[in-house]
Amino acid sequence: MLHTLNPPQQAAVRHLDGPLLVLAGAGSGKTRVITQKIAYLIERAGYEARHIAAITFTNKAAREMQERVAGLLDAQRTRGLTVSTFHSLGLQIVRHEAKALGYKPRFSILDSADAYKIVSDILATTDKEEIRKTLGLISRLKNDFVGPEQALLNAGSDGELRLARIYRQYQDTLFAYQAVDFDDLIRLPVELFERDGELLTKWQMRLRYLLIDEYQDTNTCQYRLVRQLTGFRGLFTAVGDDDQSIYAWRGANVDNLRLLQQDFPRLEIIKLEQNYRSTARILKAANAVIANNPKLFDKQLWSELGVGDPIQVVETRDEEHEAETVAMRLLAHKFECRTRFADYAILYRGNHQARVIEQQLRNHKIPYQISGGQSFFDKVEIKDVMAYLRLIANEDDDPAFIRAITTPKRGIGNVTLEKLGALAAERQLSLFAALRLPSCEQALPAAQFEALRTFQGFIERMQGRAGREPAGALLKEILDAISYETWLYDSDEQRPAETRWKNVLELVAWFDRKHEEEGSSLIEMTQKIALITLLEGRSEEEVDVVRLSTLHASKGLEYGHVFLIGCEEGILPHQQSIDTNMVEEERRLMYVGITRAQRSLTISYCAKRKRAGEWQVVEPSRFLRELPSDEIRISGRLAAGRKEQVSKEEGRAKLANLLAGLGPKPG
Ligand code: ATP
Ligand code: MG
Repeated sequence: MLHTLNPPQQAAVRHLDGPLLVLAGAGSGKTRVITQKIAYLIERAGYEARHIAAITFTNKAAREMQERVAGLLDAQRTRGLTVSTFHSLGLQIVRHEAKALGYKPRFSILDSADAYKIVSDILATTDKEEIRKTLGLISRLKNDFVGPEQALLNAGSDGELRLARIYRQYQDTLFAYQAVDFDDLIRLPVELFERDGELLTKWQMRLRYLLIDEYQDTNTCQYRLVRQLTGFRGLFTAVGDDDQSIYAWRGANVDNLRLLQQDFPRLEIIKLEQNYRSTARILKAANAVIANNPKLFDKQLWSELGVGDPIQVVETRDEEHEAETVAMRLLAHKFECRTRFADYAILYRGNHQARVIEQQLRNHKIPYQISGGQSFFDKVEIKDVMAYLRLIANEDDDPAFIRAITTPKRGIGNVTLEKLGALAAERQLSLFAALRLPSCEQALPAAQFEALRTFQGFIERMQGRAGREPAGALLKEILDAISYETWLYDSDEQRPAETRWKNVLELVAWFDRKHEEEGSSLIEMTQKIALITLLEGRSEEEVDVVRLSTLHASKGLEYGHVFLIGCEEGILPHQQSIDTNMVEEERRLMYVGITRAQRSLTISYCAKRKRAGEWQVVEPSRFLRELPSDEIRISGRLAAGRKEQVSKEEGRAKLANLLAGLGPKPG
């Protein structure tokens, strides 16, 4: 079964009796090692699937890996296998150990919008910056295992004291809602395992072999969890590439690669050097760019896939022109090479860059799908109906209660909700539970109380049925009962009601499908959805469309032909990273982008760009100068600072000038 692997890959799969790190560049088959190793562990090494956990960076990657493993083994043998993200694994643990953690099994997971609202309420402000900053600081404390009480003790200044108090209030609110946030999903298990050795042993026995993909992007908290779960036996395989570490801004810590060596003296390191993804030219370009970063580990990369086409570097006038150029080139290439739309990806640094591209793709009737952008589950209509399901799953979920009771309107306004809130706070109950208090009837106006009780009765009936009936069926009934479709058509939102209603129906279909495939309960599915919104958009259907993606969300993936747009100073590298001297992470992002391409790569940039309503001349990215000049072909016109059209030759001369003196880089 190992015949599809090269010798070092085989060695990585066969290495079973201690910690292993596979450290290798992009496209060298690290992820493939993990997939094959899962099959090997089950087929040859006598592991039962339920004792193996593979951790991927996104839910999408988890799904793909699960499918690949399913292709290698029959379904019987993979039953119970865990393939998930760190957060889903955390959720699994929190769900099983809810009692030990002091939570009900029906807890909710707050998404970032809910967390934002809570902090905004605590701070009594609408100042976005302040709220985000506070959320960031709380997240930092959580990931450093500092609890609210500890934070209070540690506080050395008024600012820290204030933050610690806010943190405590935030945590109390979460607990009152019986809710956890994303950081809690990792932090709670780690804390639990630290104080309860018996439970830890139980989980160590349950998850006996750990495989971790994209290891370079784990944060401190996740690393602790890995160390706890693998214990002294250290049975794990981590694969990663320090040159692809692109999540430092979210707490990822490349040092975890070095720590591994320190914490596991028996750690074996295997390097992979053959790239199976890209042509030699693409690889050479990637190697040349990343050679400008200081090296953590020495790595080589070569490919047998032929020289390939030169890398196209295209200058365009502005964003509009860039988008049009990409669309035209894509169509011409597709026509010439008889490819499918699905062979193409358009990658960019920031989500905002997608808008203009989308417009042009629509103009040219090119079908596309965005990944890593606004999630399906973040859409207003989806969150509306999800509020009902969340409330059915956990009646203490106050944010869900407020959203559901006010959508559609039932004559319950802020005044009523505030009165109910006061009552709930006084008795330390959730809003839903406070409605059952005898004193509630006196406290609220009769009509409002009536409406609230009717609503409560409805939710209670649904709660009773949630255990027996599939979520999709319940959802359909809820939609009927609240006349949601009519409400959509009556409300004046910009997006057409048909689109929004179509999304809702898609959600119903999604629940039906999930029920058929996994038989999960409403509660389980509701908890999972919160996690889907964490990193990525909707689950992608396999259809023939061009992929649009941020560079961050493209990690681990590969595409036949890649367009990398907006390669300009201020965009890639990002202005903030230039200002703070953090260009190295941006260079890794560029490296990730280049190495997504299998057969062709087109890089574009604009000569001018509108910023804050003003046209500004922009500089091509410094990373373009780092590309080996013999491997690139420059085209387009150079309109920088000029209105008239410039000939191709002149254009070449200008960029050649730009590149002169820098020459090809080693590597
Ligand atoms: P990244 O760093 O981008 O995550 P990776 O190291 O995980 O890349 P994979 O995605 O596992 O690389 O592999 C890249 C491509 O090479 C895939 O299409 C994979 O199927 C193919 N591949 C990997 N190993 C081999 C091999 N030994 N023989 C043939 N093809 C291979
Ligand atoms: Mg990979």
